[in-house]
Amino acid sequence: MHSISKSPGVYVLVFYLSRKTAITFDRKGAQHKFLPGWYLYVGSACGPGGLDRRLTRPKRQRNDGKRMHWNVDYFRERALLCEIWYSANADSNVEHQWAKALMELPSATAPVAKFGASDCRAKCPSHFFHAPDRPSTAVFRKTLASRSCSTEVFVEFIKEPRRTKKVECGLQREYFDGRRFLELRRRVATESKSPLCEWSSLAKHCPARQLAEQIATQTKTSFPKLKRAIQFATAVDSLIEHCGESVLPVLFDPVRPQSRVAVLRLSRTSDVRQRHRINGVSRGGSDPLPHNPTIRFSIR
Ligand SMILES: [Zn+2]
Repeated sequence: MHSISKSPGVYVLVFYLSRKTAITFDRKGAQHKFLPGWYLYVGSACGPGGLDRRLTRPKRQRNDGKRMHWNVDYFRERALLCEIWYSANADSNVEHQWAKALMELPSATAPVAKFGASDCRAKCPSHFFHAPDRPSTAVFRKTLASRSCSTEVFVEFIKEPRRTKKVECGLQREYFDGRRFLELRRRVATESKSPLCEWSSLAKHCPARQLAEQIATQTKTSFPKLKRAIQFATAVDSLIEHCGESVLPVLFDPVRPQSRVAVLRLSRTSDVRQRHRINGVSRGGSDPLPHNPTIRFSIR
């Protein structure tokens, strides 16, 4: 993780549960059944060593000799830790602002009241949330911005869930593949103190190209395939920036799927037009996005 993480800050642990799971917490035997899907736990790192020190803990498990202490330790034993979102920030209120922003993610719920928030002074219903679909930092940043909070959020990717058709459609997969590059680029550019625009070109010998080739090797994909995913994820993130959290449910709706071409085309139109189309589709009033040469309807 990069140097920012030596400072105090706030973080989100992003977990994935592939099936319904009963988890027993603590010695008292309190048990809770969790639905499959994505879970987000927000916490803060104020102690010595900052984020870096605090975030080594969730990467370890009981088998590694970790002593079980918090509810999230028990949850972590059964779930896959996929991403860590973090931001350097000494203000202790940010943790609660993040909790409130997470609650606004599409279809987010608080499965256990006060989980991770037993001593929360800001009256958060919980510091732990469930979302049926994979959460995106682009949506989270948009929510933070609407709450006048800093949108400086970095991501560390830990593990990927095994991919099945059941959990994600092809376009969703492409978005998250591209997003991995966009997030790492953001981090590396900040780390090297160079403006993000110097990292926009994927031409040979440009720094972004080298990063993309590294990621392609790590994720066992080809550079052209990753480049396509980056192009698509850039389009999706710009739509999220203009239209907010309703974008992903519209684009990845299993009943009314959108085409890749339509998404790319819409991202090149004005933000007013983008909002008009996305809102129209999300209210169910409009057909899939315009200029769509391969409209496909699947019947439920
Ligand atoms: Zn709170």
